[in-house]
Amino acid sequence: MIDLERLAQAQQAIVDAGETLYRAGQVPATGGNFSLRLDESHMAVTASGCHKGRLTPADILVTDLEAIPLEPHRKPSAEALLHGRLYADRPRTGAVLHTHSKAATLLSLIEPGKTLWLSGYELLKALEGVASHDERVAIPIFDNTQDMRALADQVGERLAHEASVAYLIRGHGLYTWATDMKACLRQVEALDFLFDCELFLRR
Ligand SMILES: [Zn+2]
Repeated sequence: MIDLERLAQAQQAIVDAGETLYRAGQVPATGGNFSLRLDESHMAVTASGCHKGRLTPADILVTDLEAIPLEPHRKPSAEALLHGRLYADRPRTGAVLHTHSKAATLLSLIEPGKTLWLSGYELLKALEGVASHDERVAIPIFDNTQDMRALADQVGERLAHEASVAYLIRGHGLYTWATDMKACLRQVEALDFLFDCELFLRR
């Protein structure tokens, strides 16, 4: 059974995150999607197609980690399966945010390799598990596709061997995950700042 109090808290936290991220230019034109873990096998995730800066609790629904909605008539975000796989593969992950910022979109197009390397930035310490600006942080990059199952499989296979707190989809956006929403929002903000710095350095 879903804990209804926990669900209500998750819905409000996702509504609040949407407002914050929309104001910061992270999710223009209905882009992006957000989720929170509810228990071992369920998540609260944004519904398909809604404007992320003007969410209401009713726009956030419950699915299992294969993105099958609890209420069959509801339709989760097309990319909900990518969220579900992150929870399924990482028991400590409590929140996942997917954003479509300008910096993430451009940088993922400019970087020709399969990994964006970040190092030397003090702000790297805003990422969970990073203790020093000296660490080399790898952000895997995947080519964009509309086949979410294929992408989820690719991501799962690669992340099983590479420690990371985020990945990029080329020309599309960022996925980042953390133990809770507060840390996840901090990571979105930090990564976008770092992507901006990288874009500037590569000009
Ligand atoms: Zn997207």
